[in-house]
Amino acid sequence: QPVIVAIDGPSGTGKSSTSKAVAAQLGLSYLDTGAQYRAITWWMVTNGIDIDDPSAIAAVAGKPEIVSGTDPSAPAITVDGVDVSGPIRTHDVTSKVSAVSAVAEVRARITELQRSIAVGAARGIVVEGRDIGTTVLPDADLKIFLTATPEARAARRSGELRGVDVHSTREALLKRDAADSSRKTSPLAKAGDAVEVDTTDLTLSQVVECVVTLVEE
Ligand code: C5P
Repeated sequence: QPVIVAIDGPSGTGKSSTSKAVAAQLGLSYLDTGAQYRAITWWMVTNGIDIDDPSAIAAVAGKPEIVSGTDPSAPAITVDGVDVSGPIRTHDVTSKVSAVSAVAEVRARITELQRSIAVGAARGIVVEGRDIGTTVLPDADLKIFLTATPEARAARRSGELRGVDVHSTREALLKRDAADSSRKTSPLAKAGDAVEVDTTDLTLSQVVECVVTLVEE
């Protein structure tokens, strides 16, 4: 019986590192849903779509072909055959992704893609995002909601983006979480039956061990 694990939470709580490690340890597939929203945002930017116009975004939401790799050790992502793993992490895409992912047509399209990938994972899958436990996979076997203080989250993110100071990282991160939590369609939220794990004072291996134990229970 394939096992489905949903890992949600705001930015900088360790979702990606945790999800990849849990999937690798349990021999499961892995899906980074944030990368999919980043990929469609990259396509919108590259094609000159006005990010401030939700109807313009909605009109072309079905156009880009997004293919997500599900190997936790090498999670590649392509748009119309182009590997965008690098370009989707730029500051420009990061600052625009919340606006694009708030558009209902974008969410409908990406949600459908996510469900088909999850169903196709023979051994099971770890899916990380913002609305996986609430909307995408409400019947997941295990739902985790990761949290951490804004300070801890900003410190982790600025460690990843070398050279960017903690203060501006913190501001950008809080702004993105506020936008993601307040949108109308499937906002960032903890599912009623999710297990909340505060990662502020935990190491990555402690969080991974905690999640693996919950999966095996
Ligand atoms: O996880 P990551 O920071 O890469 O996510 C980028 C953005 O994608 C989030 O800020 C959010 O706007 C959007 N997202 C979403 N729903 C998900 C995953 C990500 O709206 N399930």
